[in-house]
Amino acid sequence: MTDRRIAIAGAGITGLTSALKLEERGAAVTVFERKGEPGGSIKSVKEKGWLAEYGPNTLLLKDRSVAEFIDSLGLAGEKVIANKEANKRFIVKDGKLEPLPVSLTKALMTGLFSTKAKLRFLKEPFISRSKNRDQTVAGFTERRLGKEFLDYAINPFVAGIFAGRPEELSLRHAFPAMDHMEQRYGSLIRGALFGKKERKNRGVTARQLISFGNGMQVLPKTIAEKLNDLRLNHEITGIEQSDDQWTVLTQMGSFGPFDDVIFTIPLYKWTEDLLPVNGSELKSLQSANYPRLSVLLLGYKKEDIAHPLDGFGFLVPDKENRNILGALFSSTLFHGRAPDNAHLLTVFMGGGRQPEIADKEGEELLKLAEEDLRDLIGLKGEAIYKDLVYWPNSIPNYHVGYDEVLDTLKSIEERNPGLRFAGNFRDGISVPDCIKNGLSLAGEIL
Ligand SMILES: Cc1cc2nc3c(=O)[nH]c(=O)nc-3n(C[C@H](O)[C@H](O)[C@H](O)COP(=O)(O)OP(=O)(O)OC[C@H]3O[C@@H](n4cnc5c(N)ncnc54)[C@H](O)[C@@H]3O)c2cc1C
Repeated sequence: MTDRRIAIAGAGITGLTSALKLEERGAAVTVFERKGEPGGSIKSVKEKGWLAEYGPNTLLLKDRSVAEFIDSLGLAGEKVIANKEANKRFIVKDGKLEPLPVSLTKALMTGLFSTKAKLRFLKEPFISRSKNRDQTVAGFTERRLGKEFLDYAINPFVAGIFAGRPEELSLRHAFPAMDHMEQRYGSLIRGALFGKKERKNRGVTARQLISFGNGMQVLPKTIAEKLNDLRLNHEITGIEQSDDQWTVLTQMGSFGPFDDVIFTIPLYKWTEDLLPVNGSELKSLQSANYPRLSVLLLGYKKEDIAHPLDGFGFLVPDKENRNILGALFSSTLFHGRAPDNAHLLTVFMGGGRQPEIADKEGEELLKLAEEDLRDLIGLKGEAIYKDLVYWPNSIPNYHVGYDEVLDTLKSIEERNPGLRFAGNFRDGISVPDCIKNGLSLAGEIL
């Protein structure tokens, strides 16, 4: 047990997870959140038979500590596992939806790649590892698997996860598991075949794609209800240190003293007034790019879509020159997302690939999205449900050179004992990564 007083800036999933774990270990924790509700990027909206996700739609459980944490919240009854159909994912090729192969044998039979690309793919185990320790995702993929694999697998995949571009992302930071496979096993194929035991030892369990009956926001809301001192509508405007103690300044007054402050506020919001950073540090931190993204939530009568929507959704490679980045078949993924006679689609537009599209007005975005949906999934009718979310700063894209951002964070922490940084700008952007990092930070502090 401890008598530590800890302030947490931001009630996104990282801050909330750390807060709960620290409280369980006896610390007196106060969480300050700018908005009127917890969750940060995680927001679910339920109305008239529709359940829409503004941010994350799914959580991929593959780590034992994350699964145990979610179970410890008493959410077993609320947890929903994605329908089996969601194992099928589509990629657009020559204007048609092609299923993404799920095994090596299927990869050799798919129409997604040419025979030349398949032969190139088989060379992967014989290509030597790179000596460049900060290669781009694009460079890595093209070298190991060929250009077609980059164009029709990794390019859409990166847009689907980071809303970003493989030419900008750092392999080591954005996809550390792939980097590890190359470094340790010399090949992705060999790593997939021989790395099973190592993954098991690291606490990696069978994968399960989940959400909650009332949407993803159930998770932060449940954690928030368990906390002793969560202050919503408290925007932090600065933090001050004297005699090893911290004071937190908000527009509602100042709070403290605290022994530690955990900062989970996104990097693009940091200023010299907010926390002890200097101009050049700020410049380095704000080199982190958070692409603009628009998310359209669209409901249609089932009879108005020709495609059976029997999958997770589809992603669009840049090469296909479309208006949208991809779409999730949200009502196929989980039951209860749309009225019985309807489908719910979640369509992504803009991102690092086409930022100017993200900025368009609602009606224009809808027109562009429906143009693609008509071609790709045989849409006929008009939307019976529509909602639009604009993310001016969506997800941090860990660029080549991201070491400088991480080194800067570390040096500010070293200079300011008690000040700690965590969030999706460090060690992974996914919800489970944020949970894992929130848990381990709590462990490090106490
Ligand atoms: C559109 C979209 C789709 C996504 N899809 C998925 C997915 O399907 N699966 C997945 O695993 N991940 C997904 N992600 C990523 C994941 O949701 C995020 O990386 C994660 O939720 C970030 O959590 P966080 O706590 O680090 O930060 P945030 O959620 O950004 O939380 C930071 C909090 O700080 C608060 N704050 C800001 N300034 C202040 C201030 N001055 N004072 C007090 N509080 C402040 C904010 O209001 C916010 O609540 C998606 C993200 C987006 C945007």
